[in-house]
Amino acid sequence: MKDVIIIGNGPAGLSAALYTCRAGLSTTIIGLDNGALEKAERIENYFGLTNPVSGHDLVATGIEQAKRLGAELINDEVLDISWMDSFTITTKNTVLQAESVIITTGASRKKLKIKGIENYEGKGVSYCAVCDGFFYRQKHIAVIGSGEYALHEVNELLPIASSVTLLTNGAELNADFPSVVKIIITPISELYGGNMVEGIEFVDNSRISVSGIFIAIGTAAAADLARKLGVETNGSSIAVDEKMSTNIPGLFAAGDCIGGVMQISVAVGEGAKASLSAIEFIRNKRKDVG
Ligand SMILES: Cc1cc2nc3c(=O)[nH]c(=O)nc-3n(C[C@H](O)[C@H](O)[C@H](O)COP(=O)(O)OP(=O)(O)OC[C@H]3O[C@@H](n4cnc5c(N)ncnc54)[C@H](O)[C@@H]3O)c2cc1C
Repeated sequence: MKDVIIIGNGPAGLSAALYTCRAGLSTTIIGLDNGALEKAERIENYFGLTNPVSGHDLVATGIEQAKRLGAELINDEVLDISWMDSFTITTKNTVLQAESVIITTGASRKKLKIKGIENYEGKGVSYCAVCDGFFYRQKHIAVIGSGEYALHEVNELLPIASSVTLLTNGAELNADFPSVVKIIITPISELYGGNMVEGIEFVDNSRISVSGIFIAIGTAAAADLARKLGVETNGSSIAVDEKMSTNIPGLFAAGDCIGGVMQISVAVGEGAKASLSAIEFIRNKRKDVG
């Protein structure tokens, strides 16, 4: 059991780790890549920089700093979080447990532009297999996606639904899907139905009928992870109070994933606040037990 798991190794997550490590808490950071900063060629509006630096170099320095203070960094993709007294984090390669979790997965930049999708959200279109799968018992359903996150959602749904079809919407397959899953790679043109979604039409005018469609494109974004825990969201952002606490005890969020001003300085400050709240949470929990 880790004291704190931080999901994301961008400015918010790395800043949070500095405080949890220095407070003597065992800290694991799980990150998939360098996040938004990988695309930033030149940073010059962050404190302490004599000369501009690339986003890549800034993250690399932050990673070295966190490691020097004792943080463990795991390069992996988080697929699922569940909570019962403590948190269980399922990644592509392992399952870890922690007393407290800080989500710093950055802004969700993936958008699925398919005609009709917004009309059917909550009416057959879902973003969380573990939350909504139960409503599709013995029904034909589809999952849109092509990678490890889609595979995770497919595996949640297979025992419940009567069939699961994977729609890659033109993308290449990036995971090994079970052979019982029918795979369609043809791009989707639109969703159709009445009050509830009834099916999917493809660009070649073929159609399949389904009762439910689960969206699992790319990696699990903050709101996807939050929904699995019943965390309140504001659209694609996680809702937090001024101490970066979510509505789940021990779960905090910071940086671009909570919305607001998306800048390094803000993410770093929010990461610090979230970590101070996590430290307080763990110390109080131990006081109660002791
Ligand atoms: C092109 C560009 C230029 C920018 N220029 C500037 C600038 O000049 N100045 C400035 O202040 N800000 C700039 N920004 C904004 C800045 O990059 C962000 O505000 C900042 O990086 C947010 O930090 P964060 O830690 O919240 O998220 P991010 O830096 O996006 O980090 C998110 C982390 O979460 C990880 N992650 C996400 N999902 C998962 C998952 N399922 N499993 C495991 N890990 C996951 C990612 O791998 C990454 O490590 C720029 C952004 C862009 C895109």
